[in-house]
Amino acid sequence: MWTRIQTAIELIYPPRCLGCGDLVTSDFGLCGPCWRETPFIAGTICESCGTPLPGGTDGHRIECDDCMTTPRPWRDGRAALLYTGRARRMILGLKHGDRPEFARPAALWMARAAKSILHDKMLIAPVPLHRSRLIKRRYNQSALLAQYIAKETSLSYCPDLLIRTKNTPMLEGMTADERTKTLSTAIHPHPKRRHRMAARDVLLVDDVMTSGATLTACANACLAGGAHHIFVLTLARVAKDT
Ligand SMILES: [Zn+2]
Ligand SMILES: [Zn+2]
Repeated sequence: MWTRIQTAIELIYPPRCLGCGDLVTSDFGLCGPCWRETPFIAGTICESCGTPLPGGTDGHRIECDDCMTTPRPWRDGRAALLYTGRARRMILGLKHGDRPEFARPAALWMARAAKSILHDKMLIAPVPLHRSRLIKRRYNQSALLAQYIAKETSLSYCPDLLIRTKNTPMLEGMTADERTKTLSTAIHPHPKRRHRMAARDVLLVDDVMTSGATLTACANACLAGGAHHIFVLTLARVAKDT
């Protein structure tokens, strides 16, 4: 069944470079020149959010200034891309519904970025969207990414582990404290899914991490729901200087 759907998708969307539209052959979705221009994160990173850091490691855990000033309720975090230039354009396309075919290669990049934090018993769950926003956008881009990551890694997946019971106002322009407060009352474990996260490690998936307020609310909801350790994986991290 899945193969038939895949074939149908490939007929509608022949594999084209997500950057320039040229035909490509790989599952990774980019031609050579676009690959080189896409801001993939590599090298030394913050263990909590995955943002790149200058210098090397001495074997000790390192964190960026953001994660040091705002301690995260999760254990480790990774991101595949920096939210700039080409990556920003691709993610906006995914978010606003006109480029859903971007989700599969993006999930492969994310699975690769998360390699060192993944383990067998983890449960993958997306950051939830409120129903009204889901209707407007037609799909939850984080759920689409999470679903492909689960398929790629063979880890368990629960699309509705968390629910957003309140449609929060746009968070842009709020301080980190205001965001956290607004979100903490909006995101909850699904009452029928608590058993799935009990004493288990959860990997939360989102498209972009800015301040981390949404992921904080989701991680706290999982911890309140009885989860063990929380890990986060985002497609892109907004770096401070962008
Ligand atoms: Zn290209
Ligand atoms: Zn960080």
